[in-house]
Amino acid sequence: MKFYLISLLRPHIATLQPYTSARDEYTGKIGVFLDANENPYGSITDQDFNRYPDPYQSDLKTEISKIKEVPADQIFLGNGSDEAIDLLFRAFCNPGKDNVILLPPTYGMYEVSASINDVAIRKVPLTSDFQMQPEKVFAAVDDQTKIIFICSPNNPSANKLKRDDIIQVLENFKGIVVVDEAYIDFSDEPSFTTQLEQYPNLLVMQTFSKAWGLASLRLGMAFGSKEIIAILNRIKPPYNISGLTQDTVLASLKNYDKVKSMTQEILEEREFLKNELSKLPFVQKIHPSHANFLLVKIPNAMKVYQDLIEQKIIVRNRAKVLLCEDCLRISVGTRAENEAFLENLKKVTSKSV
Ligand SMILES: *Cc1c(COP(=O)(O)O)cnc(C)c1O
Repeated sequence: MKFYLISLLRPHIATLQPYTSARDEYTGKIGVFLDANENPYGSITDQDFNRYPDPYQSDLKTEISKIKEVPADQIFLGNGSDEAIDLLFRAFCNPGKDNVILLPPTYGMYEVSASINDVAIRKVPLTSDFQMQPEKVFAAVDDQTKIIFICSPNNPSANKLKRDDIIQVLENFKGIVVVDEAYIDFSDEPSFTTQLEQYPNLLVMQTFSKAWGLASLRLGMAFGSKEIIAILNRIKPPYNISGLTQDTVLASLKNYDKVKSMTQEILEEREFLKNELSKLPFVQKIHPSHANFLLVKIPNAMKVYQDLIEQKIIVRNRAKVLLCEDCLRISVGTRAENEAFLENLKKVTSKSV
């Protein structure tokens, strides 16, 4: 299989003249900066936010590159992974003409983003144990299929997809294969970032929103070939990552050990939650989890969900989602939160189940 990135691109993107920021012509840090209409006196806060941030996020990428073992020019940073998803549609999918393949049940943003961009969706459902069916995926592909979105570990099913199936797609599909690894830190599966050299059509997405505990800062990563990353960088809004986010994440990268210890704690709590739930007679199924949440099947899940809300316990209702009938998605909390959830679950189910 030969991969021709240029033939996948929307024609006007291939010839696009990107925005050049005021700081492109002079990259020194010292100088009299009268080029960007900033406030020279500083900010109205204690911290100085008056200068535009680095549009290339160079310092941050250098450090992320070391941790992830991916060269800086193969890293894209977005305002959450959601920005990378949107930019992929805008770069590769002609509205009203091209299509993408989704594997439901999966992350809702792929479909929302496709719809916003007026891109058709072809759905190839996972099996009842939430695995991909590569031959059905290939049957759904046509000349207009630009992207296949694979989420592993998958949201909301929590399991990882078989590596061999993903590789089969990478080897046989001529478009872009997104492997969304938002939950990779909670899995024993190695990241697909180690296979970027082999597969020029691979784009791996990760995020600082989950294991790193930085959801509010909005920082998502995409790893791919230099060529794909260059395209995303050309079409992104120039200052898509705020200076506050860049500085805070840069400083936090030194605390990678803390990420590991928090992740370990979450995994232990996931085990606790799973064990406690398995003792409850009305729980019909706890799906295997490689993520920081559990998908749990309970009779009358809709009613249980509502009753839990009345107790101010908020879980994600997936009861109406394909293959997740009567399921709730429960994020792993602290021990106190997990106990509060379990206690209230017992209470509301004694009435409604
Ligand atoms: C949470 C999540 C993300 C992260 O999105 P951000 O925009 O980076 O916060 C990405 N993909 C999946 C499947 C997720 O569940």
